[in-house]
Amino acid sequence: MKIAMIGTGYVGLVSGVCFSDFGHDVVCVDKDPAKIEMLEAGKVPIYEPGLDALMAKNVAAGRLSFSGDLAKAVDGAEAIFIAVGTPTRRGDGHADLTYVMAAAEEIATALTGYAVIVTKSTVPVGTNRQVKHVVSKANPDAEYDVASNPEFLREGAAIDDFMRPDRVVVGVQNDRAADVMAEVYRPLYLRDFPIMTTDLESAEMIKYAANAFLATKITFINEIAALCERTGADVKMVSKGMGLDGRIGNKFLHAGPGYGGSCFPKDTQALARMGQDHSMPMQITEAVIKVNDEVKRRMIDKIVDICEGSVNGKTIAILGVTFKPNTDDMRDAPALTIVPALVGAGAKVRVVDPQGQREGEDLLPGVNWLDDAYKAVQNADATVIMTEWNEFRALNLKRVANRMARPALADLRNIYSEKDAKRAGFVAYTSIGRADYG
Ligand code: NAD
Repeated sequence: MKIAMIGTGYVGLVSGVCFSDFGHDVVCVDKDPAKIEMLEAGKVPIYEPGLDALMAKNVAAGRLSFSGDLAKAVDGAEAIFIAVGTPTRRGDGHADLTYVMAAAEEIATALTGYAVIVTKSTVPVGTNRQVKHVVSKANPDAEYDVASNPEFLREGAAIDDFMRPDRVVVGVQNDRAADVMAEVYRPLYLRDFPIMTTDLESAEMIKYAANAFLATKITFINEIAALCERTGADVKMVSKGMGLDGRIGNKFLHAGPGYGGSCFPKDTQALARMGQDHSMPMQITEAVIKVNDEVKRRMIDKIVDICEGSVNGKTIAILGVTFKPNTDDMRDAPALTIVPALVGAGAKVRVVDPQGQREGEDLLPGVNWLDDAYKAVQNADATVIMTEWNEFRALNLKRVANRMARPALADLRNIYSEKDAKRAGFVAYTSIGRADYG
């Protein structure tokens, strides 16, 4: 089967590579010539574990190629995926559909025979019908169907998520499109992964509802953590005790510095906006957005507290700035709120992140990038663990404390304990939802 993938970002590239590994012939298209140049040279423009090897394997097998020429990729393709960005539209929280509609229009004029135009990007309910309208207007003779196929992969574990999904959701309007989509996902059907066929609107809504629910779960435990700090409870025990209940589950129940990343912040905003547009306010989601902002701000207070009330002139080592480990994605990471606040308050900030520097350099002006945690903490007044990369999970805390001017630790991922910190010689320790000292 011939597939065109429009957009080779985190979702498009992973999906395109995985579809080629299913045995399909895939052409990945991007309008960014620098990306295509890198891909053609065999380099992966993003950091995603395992992606380089799987890409090389399928390029070598002749099933996967890259192009800046959308029309050539679309010519003869039976399924054309739109996997372009849908960021928050400036000013009103709505998902910006400019890229989706531009891609739809380009596809329309390039169609040469029947194809299914599949939206993989996360888009508000009603968008697939809008895509149909745009395509038919641009090419009234086009023979095609639309399908909604939202993506649920997680950055950092994207290949496994794509190859072994909890479910695949496919929204269609007729059997012809359903048959094409069944062929696309045939290897997953054969291995009994749940493939759910719905109407267009339900498929679109599933994606937003799922992401808003997960964001709610994280925010719920973050709010409980704040109350734990006031009452003497330990949120780690609380979340374990909650998570053992099969109705609740233990995933997305770890207290931290607030959710971030390329999906939850923009998708909760877009869902809230959708509710307003339909005079059906999404009150829970709106509260989640507000609480998450407060969670991030609370982290700043915590860091100031362990610096004895002021960060002005203090040296602070930040370990990890990406929104989670195993990705280089900095979009809406809590670090983008916390670090500038520290810099603005006069702190001298050093940052270490195994993959975040390339994207982070422009986003975090005024900080000093280092490549090693032990170098970063030298003579520092506070160390802040912001992202739980493996190398920060296994720090020699004694070595860290010994190097610091005043050993104070803000463990915003609850990796260590008060006991660990005390034993290592830290004079101050703060974490999330647990007792502090210092
Ligand atoms: P991204 O910004 O990493 O990639 C989008 C790519 O599309 C860019 O490379 C851009 O140059 C390209 N592009 C834009 N318009 C184009 C056009 N007309 N023709 C060709 N290329 C074009 O975005 P992403 O993180 O991959 O997200 C894509 C979509 O998938 C979004 O809607 C997002 O919400 C959704 N999604 C993302 C994730 C994730 O973890 N990143 C997970 C699930 C769903």
